[in-house]
Amino acid sequence: MEEVPYFHALATFACKANRLYRIYVGRHELVFIWAGKGGEGMAGARFVSRARAGAVGVEGLLSRALGKGLERWLDPARQNEVRGQQLDRTPLARLIADHPANVRLHTGGFQEVRIGARSDHHARAYSDHSHQALLHIRHRKLGKLRLGLSSVEDVQLAMDLLPRVLGTRVRVDMARPTREQPCGCRFCRFPG
Ligand SMILES: [Zn+2]
Repeated sequence: MEEVPYFHALATFACKANRLYRIYVGRHELVFIWAGKGGEGMAGARFVSRARAGAVGVEGLLSRALGKGLERWLDPARQNEVRGQQLDRTPLARLIADHPANVRLHTGGFQEVRIGARSDHHARAYSDHSHQALLHIRHRKLGKLRLGLSSVEDVQLAMDLLPRVLGTRVRVDMARPTREQPCGCRFCRFPG
């Protein structure tokens, strides 16, 4: 069977939990396979532990330990890693029906596909601090979707793969990234 290329992006929502997707770019459809949870919980715990790190005495130490413990407990990265290994082992055809959040989008239904620069506002509003670019999608079946491309490599892959199947409907509003950009939002810049 032909291997279908993919990249990763975090679908962000105002009123429900973010979803990490592995997006397979097929010739006739984009297949979104649920790849795990977003890092909201972890970002929150990290903020708590950073904010309290400046405190002195026993209370400070305690809250720091609590922050670290929370971070470990909420860490979705470990769960997502397990899911990633499962995806690596399984051919796409067998993944399509394996999770209720999976979505197939026919290439003919895309009305807008735009790749734009990362945004501190998006990072803060959607707890997506590590995203490296934004992918805006409008599709007849799904409506509007806003995704954070997860790494420099994912941005490059999206820039290469999407025009192959969607042609001139893909608009790229940013230069090709070469290195990772740190988040500049208020949480990430918090002293301590
Ligand atoms: Zn941030």
